[in-house]
Amino acid sequence: MTKVLRKIIQIDEELCTGCGDCVSPCAEGAIEIVDGKAKVISDELCDGAGFCLGTCPEGALTIVERETDEFSEEAVHEHTAANKVDPVTQHCNWCGAADTERPLLPTRHQGQSVWVCVKCLPPLIHG
Ligand code: SF4
Repeated sequence: MTKVLRKIIQIDEELCTGCGDCVSPCAEGAIEIVDGKAKVISDELCDGAGFCLGTCPEGALTIVERETDEFSEEAVHEHTAANKVDPVTQHCNWCGAADTERPLLPTRHQGQSVWVCVKCLPPLIHG
């Protein structure tokens, strides 16, 4: 398999409590809880987009740049079909809107990882 220099998620196992909050935001199904810790089960499944980052209450997730397997849409399709990966609908922590209604962004607030929809975000920014 071709190795490329690219961005990818890194999980600090010392900080990870295995809560699982980062699993469902990953549409590729790249993260699973294995032996009580979050793991990227295959580098070719992680596109490095970082949608999981804001969900971690422990700050265990970061994006790093390193040489690894190329991201593979084909591998994602095979993996999600075989494992019936179906991302759980997330809701805005302010108004309760589902991500099927409007886009949500992962944010941090008062030490918590929270989802905020695009309608609630402007008042939070501008006060
Ligand atoms: S959200 Fe953070 S603490 Fe929870 S399982 Fe994922 S990496 Fe571990």
